[in-house]
Amino acid sequence: MFNFEAERRRMVEVQLVTRGIHDPRVLNAMRNVPRHEFMPEAIRGTAYGDHALPIGESQTISQPYMVALMTELLELTGSERVLEIGTGSGYQAAVLAELCAKVYTVERIKTLAANARAALDRLGYQRVAIKTFDGTYGWKDMAPFDAILVAAGAPEIPESLVAQLREGGRMVIPVGERFSQQLVKLVKTPEGVVTDKSIPCVFVPLIGNHGWKE
Ligand code: SAH
Repeated sequence: MFNFEAERRRMVEVQLVTRGIHDPRVLNAMRNVPRHEFMPEAIRGTAYGDHALPIGESQTISQPYMVALMTELLELTGSERVLEIGTGSGYQAAVLAELCAKVYTVERIKTLAANARAALDRLGYQRVAIKTFDGTYGWKDMAPFDAILVAAGAPEIPESLVAQLREGGRMVIPVGERFSQQLVKLVKTPEGVVTDKSIPCVFVPLIGNHGWKE
């Protein structure tokens, strides 16, 4: 049998701490959330490997390091309302839920949204709301958000999402070509939007009105 808790501790030390993830709250969340529970049973044995994994519908759950890095860049303290675009398995939403007040997450593929809802409910993550929709429009009724995490690669930063960020709010989003992007952090300041480039990355495409066409 697998000792998932021990694997999680190792994942945090070997994959996250050594690469510079240092926010103790983020490291704790990564130690707490049972990543394997968000995956199809057949691949749970590899849940804590240093890579992305398939979750069906040609989509993937991101590498643990990428989840931790994006989360750390949002600088969450516990009181925030956070929007995620691309629910996928629901794992990233659970990590966010450990660190903020409320998570709103949008997924365009119905079956993935349903599986994520089931996993989150089973594990007691009640502070996550999921909507099946084109997330490039954001979630207007619930805006503004303190932080926005986009978990799919975009050709450019959707203005619709910037508009739903409150002043002082942070957004992380992979931006670039269809099969290779750069992680971008954006802060909405009174003087305008300030962007900062992080590391190169590869995400599945953000498909929608303000993203890639299908
Ligand atoms: N955060 C996820 C990984 C997401 S993979 C996790 O932790 O498992 C990216 C997801 O974005 C895929 O599920 C894909 O279907 C979804 N996606 C792509 N374009 C989208 C859009 N316009 N709106 C909502 N979801 C979208």
